[in-house]
Amino acid sequence: MKYIDLRSDTVTAPTDKMREVMFKAVVGDDVYDDDPTMKELEAFAAKLVNKEAAIFVPSGTFGNQLSLFTHCNRGDEVILGEDCHIVMHEVGASSVIAGVQLRTLRSNKGELNPENIKSKIRSGEDDIHFPSTGLICLENAHSNGRVIPLSNMREIYTIAKENNIPVHLDGARLFNAASYLNIDVKELTRNCDSVMFCLSKGLCAPVGSILAGTNDFIKKAKKKRKLMGGGLRQAGFLAAAGLVALKDMRENLTNDHENALFLGTELSKIPGIKVRQDDIHINMVFFSIKDTPLKSDVIVSALLEKGIKINGEEDGEMRFVTNYWVKKEDVMYVVKCLKDLL
Ligand SMILES: *Cc1c(COP(=O)(O)O)cnc(C)c1O
Repeated sequence: MKYIDLRSDTVTAPTDKMREVMFKAVVGDDVYDDDPTMKELEAFAAKLVNKEAAIFVPSGTFGNQLSLFTHCNRGDEVILGEDCHIVMHEVGASSVIAGVQLRTLRSNKGELNPENIKSKIRSGEDDIHFPSTGLICLENAHSNGRVIPLSNMREIYTIAKENNIPVHLDGARLFNAASYLNIDVKELTRNCDSVMFCLSKGLCAPVGSILAGTNDFIKKAKKKRKLMGGGLRQAGFLAAAGLVALKDMRENLTNDHENALFLGTELSKIPGIKVRQDDIHINMVFFSIKDTPLKSDVIVSALLEKGIKINGEEDGEMRFVTNYWVKKEDVMYVVKCLKDLL
């Protein structure tokens, strides 16, 4: 049975073209630096985001944590938003792997206040009690579905550079953000020293993310990736799909965004459903069902019987995510099923 899967864009299976190139990929042992397809992907990815070098990692979480581990010393403080993925959804890894302290700041729908960041920067040399700020992390697109304005990133990056502190961008959905802002992705990545982006979300690659930065940073990261168990052997099979993701699949993201807007508009017509319509910047629709007669687990199982996979509520909200394999007709079918049910 074919399901319509709105749980996430991570559920995207690879395209036929990806399966073909994976089958035919020329591979080698990437730990011996012997995999030509991986080298091609890493060079292509670095160029795309205008960084000197890039490295393939098994997941977005791996890439973020590798970045913290590479930028920081143990005991350093990392300044970031209270609601960002690194804080909320990475299993507390920052304390286990990099051994850093997270200094979380209040965020305004994902946006951090530059002056607030400035006031939190400190140096261990100023006072025997202080840790040193080792890194500032930004997230764009944000996992709350919104895209952070370029001007905000720029202001924060300027402050970071004045204080000689590196900035890492969690760009799991970097290309969604660029597509929403209708700018080249380089405009976003010029405001950070390192960036992570996922191949495995809306871009449909089966596995993998990229971490990009300076040559020196990536060289250090490569050793730490090995320590973390991320030295992969014939990884060119994955790189082959990753190249298709970066070359062919970025353009489709605007379709995902249009489908999400349409889904949001139609859902908001169902009595009791409250959609955060203004927050639909990319492929995610957040809404509340608390004024409907049904609980989320009932909706989840009823829709599953109709061939639709969704997640239950998190923090009192439902989230539907559109992706390459969800077409406009599928969106209409989902809305119809939900309408009938309620
Ligand atoms: C998905 C996501 C990640 C982590 O990616 P995984 O591949 O699931 O580990 C990191 N940051 C953000 C903002 C994400 O949405």
